[in-house]
Amino acid sequence: MYEDEIMDANVETPVYEDETLVCKECGNEFVFTAGEQAFYAEKGFQNKPKTCKACRDAKKNAGKPERQYFEATCTNCGAIAKLTFQPSADRPVYCSACFEARRRDR
Ligand SMILES: [Zn+2]
Ligand SMILES: [Zn+2]
Repeated sequence: MYEDEIMDANVETPVYEDETLVCKECGNEFVFTAGEQAFYAEKGFQNKPKTCKACRDAKKNAGKPERQYFEATCTNCGAIAKLTFQPSADRPVYCSACFEARRRDR
C-alpha cells in the first residue's frame, strides 16, 4: 500500500467540491456533494445525477410493481370483492368468503 502511494504521488488526485445541480424532474437545486462525486468517480459513472434525491427516491418507489386490484360486486352476496384480475362481465364474481364457501362445497 505504501509503494502505491509513492507511485501515485505524481498523479493529481481530484479535489471534489460540492456542486449545485438543478433537478430536471422538479427544477429544484440540489447539492451533488463532494462525497457523492468521489463515489461516482469510484464507480466509474460518467454522468452527474440529473435528478435530486427526492425525485430519485420517488422513482425508485414508483418502479416497484404495485399489485393492482379490481373491484367487483360479489354475485352471491353483493359485497365488494377485490380481485387480482380483471373481472369479465359474463362470469360470476365472488368475494373471498363466497369463493371459499363454494370451494368447500365442491
Ligand atoms: Zn427533483
Ligand atoms: Zn360474497
